[in-house]
Amino acid sequence: MPHKKGPTGAKSRATKKPIKRLAVRPTLPMQRELPFSHVGKFFDLKESFHKLNAKYFGNALRGYTITWGRKRKERPREYFIFGSIQEEDKIIRIHPLLDARFVPKWFLEYVIYHEMLHSVVPEKYDRKRRRRIVHTEEFFEREKDFHWYARARKWETKNLARFLQ
Ligand SMILES: [Zn+2]
Repeated sequence: MPHKKGPTGAKSRATKKPIKRLAVRPTLPMQRELPFSHVGKFFDLKESFHKLNAKYFGNALRGYTITWGRKRKERPREYFIFGSIQEEDKIIRIHPLLDARFVPKWFLEYVIYHEMLHSVVPEKYDRKRRRRIVHTEEFFEREKDFHWYARARKWETKNLARFLQ
């Protein structure tokens, strides 16, 4: 599930209507077929995945692919998706902007841990609102098991604006 973070009530910033532009770039049919890459300029996602899998999950996550997501020209300004997990295909994607010098490794690993946690904490269904809840109370409780949880959340609050630009 997308690990979506944004300042509450930040929608006002997006009231300006986006100008729609037609794509002039040639489409790249091969792009989707590129092999997954876990190696970034600063961080190797696979290395962190294996470390976290051993430390927090007893190596329970098997057959997963972890990859840096593709850079997109257009992205929403009011929230930022640090990572996501696709259970059907067992793919964890991490936003490429996290592959940066100013990002502490423990923050990146918090994002990875968060996505990995989705694969072991079952989601619930809210009948009243008719929607799935992926961030359940159990999820939030277990999220705190991550060693740098408090530090990572603070860092996220402090640095979110750098990702929203
Ligand atoms: Zn999540």
